[in-house]
Amino acid sequence: MGRPSNVSDLGPRLREILHYFWPYTRNHRATMVGALLAIVAEVFLRLLEPWMLALVIDYVIAPPKGGPKPLPVISDMSPEQILLFASVGLVASVGLRALAVYASTVGFAVVGNKVLTKVRADLYQHLHSLSLSYHTRARKGDLTVRVIGDIGLLKDVVVTAVLPLVGNLFILIGMISVLFFLNLKLTLLAMATVPLFWLSTVRLTNRIHQVSRAQRRREGSMASSAAESLGAIHVVQALSLEGQFAESFAGQNQKSSKQGVKGTRLAARLERSVDLLVAISTAVVMYFGARLVLDNSLTAGALVVFLTYLKNALKPVRDFAKYTARLAKAVAAGERVIDVFQQQPDIRDTPDAVPAPPLAGRVRLEDVSFEYEPGHPVLRGIEFEAEPGQVVALVGPSGIGKSTLVNLILRLYDPTSGRVLVDGRDIRDYTLESVRTQIGVVLQDTLLFAASVRENIRYGRPDATEAEVMAAAELANASEFIRRLPDGFDTVIGERGVTLSGGQRQRLSIARTAIRRAPILILDEPTTGMDGESSKLVTDALNRLADGRTTFLITHDLRQVAHADRILFIEGGNVVEQGSHEDLVARGGRYATLYALGTALPPARPTTEFVP
Ligand code: ADP
Repeated sequence: MGRPSNVSDLGPRLREILHYFWPYTRNHRATMVGALLAIVAEVFLRLLEPWMLALVIDYVIAPPKGGPKPLPVISDMSPEQILLFASVGLVASVGLRALAVYASTVGFAVVGNKVLTKVRADLYQHLHSLSLSYHTRARKGDLTVRVIGDIGLLKDVVVTAVLPLVGNLFILIGMISVLFFLNLKLTLLAMATVPLFWLSTVRLTNRIHQVSRAQRRREGSMASSAAESLGAIHVVQALSLEGQFAESFAGQNQKSSKQGVKGTRLAARLERSVDLLVAISTAVVMYFGARLVLDNSLTAGALVVFLTYLKNALKPVRDFAKYTARLAKAVAAGERVIDVFQQQPDIRDTPDAVPAPPLAGRVRLEDVSFEYEPGHPVLRGIEFEAEPGQVVALVGPSGIGKSTLVNLILRLYDPTSGRVLVDGRDIRDYTLESVRTQIGVVLQDTLLFAASVRENIRYGRPDATEAEVMAAAELANASEFIRRLPDGFDTVIGERGVTLSGGQRQRLSIARTAIRRAPILILDEPTTGMDGESSKLVTDALNRLADGRTTFLITHDLRQVAHADRILFIEGGNVVEQGSHEDLVARGGRYATLYALGTALPPARPTTEFVP
């Protein structure tokens, strides 16, 4: 949606949003038609209602001079009977109207809820399909607000404001048509205030929309700040930054509250000015209408009907003012949702991508260059090949591009130029999912989900059998500590104070990777930050995991690197040395110097050897 920021006309934006989500209503058209019919019935009954009072006035209380016009059914009735008829008629029409309103409210609530539940599910899925390049730029808290808050707001407003407005629109059309029919001159007089309505609403509505949009944006940004500071709470506390974060949050919170009040103030102003205009309209009609009654060219009953209709007809206008602030918020929320939908993943299946067959694990990089930001290459012309089952260690200063390189193998990013091949074929020829499911990953920070230990392991391969889960836990040196947990494999991580040490978490993550049976393995600093005992258990497990898999190992521990089949020494975006440990030491180059330095010093903490 092209959205110049200074233009914010609510009506067209609302239409745009309804248009965008219209296809979602496809399966609910029957319910919608039913609800619309209920609205039509409601309007009809609402039109009927004032006539009961008119009957009583014109035929019972104050018949006009010369008697009222004869009416079919009631001409033969006595005033007493007419009174009874009108009373019963009133109750009946109100009763039926209640039914109709109930049906339309429930019908639209069902449609609104179903549609937006689907939109929310799609948005959630879409967010997960967006590439890392999007997610590294986007703020998590803000995205969460879009999925939960913005959709929630849309749902609430669609059900409680947009749909009643649709009903009101029908009422407006119905009432005005009858008004014209009743008395042309009076109707034209009543309509004289329309331009005034227009003038007073448009400007205020636009300002309300602007304020609402700014407020939604600020709330997204507040959620991001909260998610970020809580996500890094140990750093915040370690650096004693609580005060600073609280202060900045309080500042934003204050501004959001000011915008909230401003929005409400504008809405209240709009509502009150509309109220005043409605009163003017009614007074004009009353003034001239009463004169018409005195002149005998209108009956008192008809004037009552006229005034009631006018009040009803103006209700949608008043409601619109009442709902404006909420509609404006919903439009702002809708725009934020559509904005995410319009993001396309940069990494996606090419049109002729095929599912990858079971891979042997031969990985080859051909002249691969990569840059995150145009003009700032991280990798330049990388070339190497890893045989199936080989362990390839990536060594080099931090920030040189080692993780970037393995991310290219995982196809989290595509190379800016060059190709990544598995088993001799460009990975872009295969569907993303079929390649990724054949790559196992163990990172430094292990992410476990708030689910049972068993489920956490099964995330590696959801259809794994119980025996496979056990075997994976065994391979990962995890069985023993899992059995000691309160509920064994059923223990829910993070619940009832169940916390795991870094090493235990890492072993669960190894079990999760082991169950995947992936021919390619990526280990990115898997033992960094672990003490000797923990590191040994994890390294043992990794050795077993790497067995028979093409493994890419990133680590600063050169003792582990020494056992790799091939070492790639990366510097300045390129592989400057490659070969086995012995080759590289014999060559006496950069690796040999680093190795001599790193191993000559006593290690800061005991390390264990990675022996694949
Ligand atoms: P290593 O794993 O060798 O420590 P990385 O591959 O993580 O290095 O990073 C290589 C370079 O790319 C660094 O300069 C880093 O700042 C930059 N970089 C990493 N990720 C991103 C990203 N998402 N956007 C922009 N630059 C990035």
